[in-house]
Amino acid sequence: MPRVFLGLGANLGDRLGALQQAVDLLARRGVRTVACSRVWATAPVGGPTDQPEFLNVVVEVDPGELSPVDVLDAANDVEAELGRVRDVRWGPRTIDIDILLWGDLRSDDPRLTIPHPRMHERAFVVLPLLDLDPDPRLPDGRRIVELPAPAGEARPYASPLSVPT
Ligand code: ATP
Ligand code: CA
Ligand code: CA
Repeated sequence: MPRVFLGLGANLGDRLGALQQAVDLLARRGVRTVACSRVWATAPVGGPTDQPEFLNVVVEVDPGELSPVDVLDAANDVEAELGRVRDVRWGPRTIDIDILLWGDLRSDDPRLTIPHPRMHERAFVVLPLLDLDPDPRLPDGRRIVELPAPAGEARPYASPLSVPT
């Protein structure tokens, strides 16, 4: 079974509530979270710098029989359900759900690139990921802990979200 990790971020409204709702709504669509990182607080990277701070988590999910595209569709549905409006790239959002890693799978499709091409450069992805896997690797075998330090600051903010049973 490949280990599948998603990155979730929120920086508008009830951020912690949006993250927890996203985990719950994903589970209803068959994308069940089996483990959640601590919640990390991070300054926005890229995009407007005057936007509110983000809360981020990484979750490990059991996709069951779902394909990566099925999980992306589920993620997009949950983003829409939680009221995400796509306007400014890297701008504020109620929820963002990215597929980070899917075992050793590599996909170069711009609609779904796996691993997520910028994940290892981002502290708000790497630090929560390390909560769940102390020595993650990219599909090409590179150890993420040996890559140049990721950009941005992230600090622990809250304990892990509750995981649907
Ligand atoms: P970034 O991708 O740099 O984190 P973002 O999350 O703000 O930026 P979005 O507007 O949420 O970008 O997504 C842009 C497009 O990225 C989506 O239409 C989606 O199809 C595509 N995409 C490609 N690879 C992935 C992936 N691994 N996970 C989620 N979306 C992806
Ligand atoms: Ca993103
Ligand atoms: Ca996204």
